[in-house]
Formats: sequence, structure tokens, C-alpha cells
Amino acid sequence: HKPEYGLIGLGTMGAALALNIAEKGNKIAVYNRTTKVTDEFIAASGALRDQLVATASLKDFVAAIQAPRKIILMVPAGPIVDAQIEALVPLLDADDLIIDAGNAHYADTNRRFKEAETAAYNFLGIGVSGGEEGARHGPSIMVGGAQSDWEAVAPVLRAISAKYEDTPCAEHMGAGGAGHYVKMVHNGIEYADMQMIAEAYAVFRDGLGWTSTQVAEAFEQWNTGPLASYLVEISGKVSRATDPVTGKAMLDVILDQAGQKGTGRWTAIEAQMLGVPVPVIEAAVAARNLSAKRDTRIQGAERFGSPLQPLTSDDITPEMLEKALTAGKILCYAQGFEMLDAASRHFEWSLPMSNIARVWREGCIIRSDMLGDMAEALDKSSSQNLIFSAPFCDMLMDCESALRATVLAATKAGIPVPALAAGLSWFDTMRTARTPANMIQAQRDFFGAHGFKRLDDVDAPHGPWAAQ
Ligand code: NDP
Repeated sequence: HKPEYGLIGLGTMGAALALNIAEKGNKIAVYNRTTKVTDEFIAASGALRDQLVATASLKDFVAAIQAPRKIILMVPAGPIVDAQIEALVPLLDADDLIIDAGNAHYADTNRRFKEAETAAYNFLGIGVSGGEEGARHGPSIMVGGAQSDWEAVAPVLRAISAKYEDTPCAEHMGAGGAGHYVKMVHNGIEYADMQMIAEAYAVFRDGLGWTSTQVAEAFEQWNTGPLASYLVEISGKVSRATDPVTGKAMLDVILDQAGQKGTGRWTAIEAQMLGVPVPVIEAAVAARNLSAKRDTRIQGAERFGSPLQPLTSDDITPEMLEKALTAGKILCYAQGFEMLDAASRHFEWSLPMSNIARVWREGCIIRSDMLGDMAEALDKSSSQNLIFSAPFCDMLMDCESALRATVLAATKAGIPVPALAAGLSWFDTMRTARTPANMIQAQRDFFGAHGFKRLDDVDAPHGPWAAQ
């Protein structure tokens, strides 16, 4: 019998996903623009060979799949997805389903849903996280689109996904671009998680003068506590690795310019569009952008001198840093979930907040033990900011002084910790009953007669400067 599923784009993610689908007992047709890649993929597929139907043209690919077809696109996001859909559509039957599994911008996904409405095919936009390893053995999957289309693919997506306590990390997020939106916020949080870990590394390396091996030991230790997570785990592994070429610590030979594909930036932009502050994510995006400006940074070090001053264990200890990172993580996720809550209302998605935490609990890059507790907290109150929920309220109280001491120590030592500092400022603002925004209001009224509200009942909506 013919396969029900097909996949286009046998790159890193597509090849891994196709093998995962095949391994779960599903036949799948595959097509890749470059046929040589398909041939190599088939040749390397081993015992799964019988489940795979290789095709060398789009026409043969479509013909090889049983209607109603379920066709997964795993090609680079953007115009290539549109071109691929355009090439595919004339070959499809009514009720065939196109599933874009790349990192599309949710607004593109919304547009593609609109385009699909006036055509015969159906469409799903799904966010897949977990890198190559996740795609091969169990990614986290965030689905956007019609409930009926989700139901049509749910058994297979659940089967291939990661599992958290037997629950599949594959979930319908809502209509249209909801899946890609949630994936976008996931990636924004990923930037922030990575940046905060990098900031802790900077305090160890540049403040305490630790070697990469010492740093590895700290991360390995942290991975057994509240920070237990994939990113802390791999940070330990990369810190411990040795460069096979020079024999030096691997980290010491890697250029300090971080790459990005833009999904963190999208999160920051979309948060601004909603008027939701996500300063930890914004700081992480800015830090990557600053890292790219290496020539200017080198020039700055020459012109102004390096600000670095050594720290001692009187200033900072690994235990303090662990608590600082724990606080930073809670603050970052509180911001991320607040953004999702605002997006859910703005786009009328009814995002399943606690299930988002469950979908992220395993399979994806930001998977961590803490997400399990976040799911429970969101079950109790999905609309309240996480910092007010148990156990995070108490954890913050316990870790706050360590976060402040870390930011202070880093500042004293001239070590930039923009994400941790942004988290602390956000938290300090969240517990400031009276901010200095009265000054902003006075300034606005002064230059623009914008008026203000008063704390008392006096009816005088402008300052005395209006008459001057
Ligand atoms: P790769 O670069 O490894 O593979 C890209 C695939 O797309 C190849 O099969 C390539 O075919 C095909 N392709 C490229 N250009 C065209 C084109 N113009 N027309 C038709 N096919 C084309 O990418 P990834 O697998 O890493 O990424 C795929 C998607 O998944 C992206 O949207 C990415 O953002 C997303 N993603 C990636 C993750 C990762 O960790 N890598 C994680 C999560 C999502 P050919 O062999 O002919 O070049």
C-alpha cells in the first residue's frame, strides 16, 4: 500500500524527521531538490529502508502518496516555502494537507492559511524543536491550524514526539500561526537561557579566573539541582571538551561571535508589538548582536582599556551564581509566559498555557525539570504571572539576594551580565509600588500637554507649566 505521509527537504531536520516517522511504523515518501541527497539518505537508512519511498520528481512524489495526502515541508523558512507550496498545489487533490514544519514566522503562516482557504488543500503550521537529535528520536511539536487537521495527524505526531511521563510533547496550540508563534517564543526563551548560562561562564572565567574544566564541574553540579536542564547539561559537556587539533580547551579556541537565524529577534519585536516587556530576551538578542561586532569591541578594548577586575570568593561563589541563574530563569520564563498569555488574548487563540510548559518539558532545546513545576503552576493559574505562583514566589525570595550580589559583583569586575541584570531590573520594577513614571507623565504634559492622572481627587489634569 502507498504511504499516507510524504516529506520534502531531506536536510538536517527533514532526514531525521523522516527516519523518526518511518521508525514508528509509517511508510513515508521522500523528495529532495537535489536527488543525490535522496540517494545518500536512502543508502544510509539501514533497516528503515523498506518504510521509505524515494522519489526523484515532485510529480512522482505526489503520485507515490495515498490521498488524502499529508505532506511535510522541511525546507528553509521564507520564500522557499511559498515556492514549494506553489509547485506542489497543482499536483494535489482536494483535502490533501500541507504541513510546514520549518521555522516560519507566524505571520507568514497566517498568510499561508488565508491562501489555503481559497484553494483546495488544507494547511498546518507546526513548530518543531530539539535540533537534529530531537527530530530523529523525539522532538517537541507545537501545532497550529484547524482542529480537524490536527486530529488527522495527531497519532503520528504524538508517536514521533518526545514524551513527558508518557504524555506526548506534541500539542495543538490553536488556529493559524499559533504553533509557529509558540515556537518563536520558545526560541526567544532559548536565546535568554543560553545567554544567562554564558554570563555565569563569564563570571567564572573572567571574574574568578576559572579554567574550562572547573566551569564544567560547576555546570555538572548544577545539572543535579533546580537548574537541571538540557542547556546546562550541554554547557558542562562543551566546557569539558578538548580541541583535537590543539589540545586546548575547546571553548578557548572558539570565536566569540554568536550566530542567529532571527527567531529571538522576532520574539523581541512581537513582544514590543503586544506591549509586553520581555527584557531578558531582548538583552539576549542584543548580546548576540553585540558579539558580532568583534572589530569594534577590540577597538574599544584598545581605546578605553579592558574593564576587567578579578573577583574573589568573597564577591561571588558558585552557589550564589547557581541561585542567580535560578532567579534569572524564573524571571525569563515569567516574561515569556506573560507574552504568550497576551498573544493568546490578542489573537484569540486560547493557548493551552500549562500544556505549552509540558510540550517544552521534554524534546526541545529548553527542556528542563523546572518546566514541570511551571506546568503545575500554570494549571492553577494560567493568567497570573509565574512570579506570584508557588513554588516560584518562594524560590525568587530565596534567590533574589544572590542575583543582586551577582549583578553587583559582575558590574564591579567589569563583566557584562545584560540578561541577568535585565531580569533583576524587571523584578525590582515588579515590586515597586511607586515607580518614577510620574516624572515621565510630567515631562509629557510639559512638552505635549498630554495630561496626567493624580494620586488624589483634585481635578487638575495639567501641571502649572501649562500656564507659563
Ligand atoms: P538544511 O539546510 O539542513 O536543509 C534544507 C533542505 O531544504 C534541504 O533538503 C534542501 O535541499 C532544501 N532546500 C533548500 N533550498 C531549497 C529550494 N530553494 N527549493 C527546494 N528545496 C530547498 O536545513 P534544516 O534541516 O536545518 O532546516 C529546515 C527547517 O527546519 C528550517 O526552517 C529551520 O529553521 C528549521 N529548524 C531547524 C532546526 C535545526 O536544528 N537545524 C531546528 C528546528 C527547526 P538541497 O539538498 O537540494 O539543498
